[in-house]
Amino acid sequence: MTELPITYADIQAAQGRLAGIAHRTPVLRSRTAEARCGAQLYFKCENFQRMGAFKFRGAYNAVAKLAPAQRAAGVVTFSSGNHAQAIALACRLLASHAVIVMPSDAPRAKVAATREYGGEVVFYDRYRDDREALGRRLAAERGLSLIPPYDHPDIMAGQGSVAAELFEATGPLDVLLAPLGGGGLLAGSAVAAHALSPDCAVIGVEPEAGDDGRQSLRAGHIVHIATPATLADGAQTQHLGQHTFAVIAARVRDILTVSDPQLLDAMAWFAERMKLVLEPTGVLAAAAVFSGQLALRGKRVGVILSGGNVDLARYAALLAARPAAED
Ligand SMILES: *Cc1c(COP(=O)(O)O)cnc(C)c1O
Repeated sequence: MTELPITYADIQAAQGRLAGIAHRTPVLRSRTAEARCGAQLYFKCENFQRMGAFKFRGAYNAVAKLAPAQRAAGVVTFSSGNHAQAIALACRLLASHAVIVMPSDAPRAKVAATREYGGEVVFYDRYRDDREALGRRLAAERGLSLIPPYDHPDIMAGQGSVAAELFEATGPLDVLLAPLGGGGLLAGSAVAAHALSPDCAVIGVEPEAGDDGRQSLRAGHIVHIATPATLADGAQTQHLGQHTFAVIAARVRDILTVSDPQLLDAMAWFAERMKLVLEPTGVLAAAAVFSGQLALRGKRVGVILSGGNVDLARYAALLAARPAAED
């Protein structure tokens, strides 16, 4: 078998770098949710991670691994939001400088938070410009290290620490569900599961409007799509990465999709029942569990709640506009 871009040892090394710096986020349970699904559900709450999402883990791991001269020169990245804040915070903690290429329609809260963490923001048009080309140009012109949001072994290894911590807390699981955008979180989760819970079925969940991951897994090669229109702004990716796809193709059992109304129902449920503020992308995996499309009865199921960064006015408007739920 060809070697994968990351191993469990890389995830353990990332855990070492993150120890005492990233939060060990709580694993919460809900009797109501468990009764509804007939399964034991373990929610890994990365909305409580530093800067509000798991992305801090990969970003810190990647910046910490730079040579001192590279770190001093600074970092550039492109992101739909959370990776930007994560890189900005990691750079501040590690005395580096962050330049962030961001879509001009990125949620206001994410732009403001990136600047608050000391990041320099450069805007692009999500529907017209090539953000990766812009990032590469800035890197060349200013001598910055380019750290992409998912397709990088150090990012994937850092994100893998989420699932590693979850298995450390719960022991082996039957199923692990993770949100899927570019695949850093899912790839890291799958490598951690393979080492710590080898029989666990690892499943990615992406927005119905952008099922490139599912298409890619079925086709056996990376499928590109147009930028999907979905509330899950952290999963509006057009394609998986080379590195993330290699791991996902080898280690992920299946990829499911959920609709925007299902995301809103899940957000409302977590707010009401568990008092958790989650962003649309953050509830992808949970919405798949609640949708009933998986046979989970009697199983031990890990569910990654990946983030909670949502502009409060937008959050209130989204939930207020939601049609009344049946239960
Ligand atoms: C980035 C992000 C994802 C998707 O992660 P990938 O590594 O790109 O697949 C999911 N949830 C949240 C909250 C994110 O910020």
